[in-house]
Amino acid sequence: MKKARSETRSAIQAMLAIVVIVFVAELVVMAGLASFGHSTSSFGVMLFDAGLLALVTAPPIYWLVLNPIRKEYQKRLMAEGEAEEMSRVAITDPLTHIMNRRGITVGLLDAMAQAERYRTPLTIAMADIDHFKEINDTYGHDAGDRVLKDVASLLADALRMPDKVGRYGGEEFLMVLPHTGLVPGRKIVDRIRASVSKWSFDLGTKKVRLTISIGVTQFKPGEDLEQLMAHADKALYDAKKGGRNIVVASKIR
Ligand code: GH3
Ligand code: MG
Ligand code: MG
Repeated sequence: MKKARSETRSAIQAMLAIVVIVFVAELVVMAGLASFGHSTSSFGVMLFDAGLLALVTAPPIYWLVLNPIRKEYQKRLMAEGEAEEMSRVAITDPLTHIMNRRGITVGLLDAMAQAERYRTPLTIAMADIDHFKEINDTYGHDAGDRVLKDVASLLADALRMPDKVGRYGGEEFLMVLPHTGLVPGRKIVDRIRASVSKWSFDLGTKKVRLTISIGVTQFKPGEDLEQLMAHADKALYDAKKGGRNIVVASKIR
């Protein structure tokens, strides 16, 4: 209803604009003809003729020329909006609303290319919730989902641009820290680990505490995605083996 009213208003505005343009153009032409002695009309008649012509030509110009162009433009805008929304959905995790594995992998590949090209440091961290299966087993799958959402929010809120975080797997989150070396990167993610361990997770009927373990590694120019991820996985494995709720950094290569 509102849309139809605004379309009618813009159609009237467009037609009025056409009337004014045709009227002025017509007057200019007539005045030109009069100055060369091709017209004997009085100014009043000229005004009337120009006005009449403008009123008669405005609707067909609008309906045959302007309106189809406007409709095509709107269709394209809508198609672009839909395409953007589809690509956003393709890289977003529906549960946590942070990036999914595909999205964060694209972000990581981009960060690796930048680090390689400009020789800037890049650190990545893989975080995994400790004993998460117990949350599911004890409080149910929905409670587990609530925890996943909260952990994702805690990680996303703790990071700043241009850092990125995505849900890499079930209860694993990958953080990408461009322009950050291993030592400061380790400090940042250890702060995040500590804040998760202090957080009280609301499961509806109960509040629980939990911890995460994190493996950190620094990108070495020349490495590919698999090699870099293998180092992060190994560091995470060592963090689990080391007793959980800790950050383990792999050696600088
Ligand atoms: P660890 O400390 O060694 O990491 O132990 P863990 O229990 O966290 O690890 P494990 O790999 O044994 O269990 C992970 C669990 O995560 C099992 C799986 O059912 C659960 N999970 C994976 N995705 C989801 C999800 O989307 N929602 C819920 N609620 N649970 C999930
Ligand atoms: Mg896991
Ligand atoms: Mg786990």
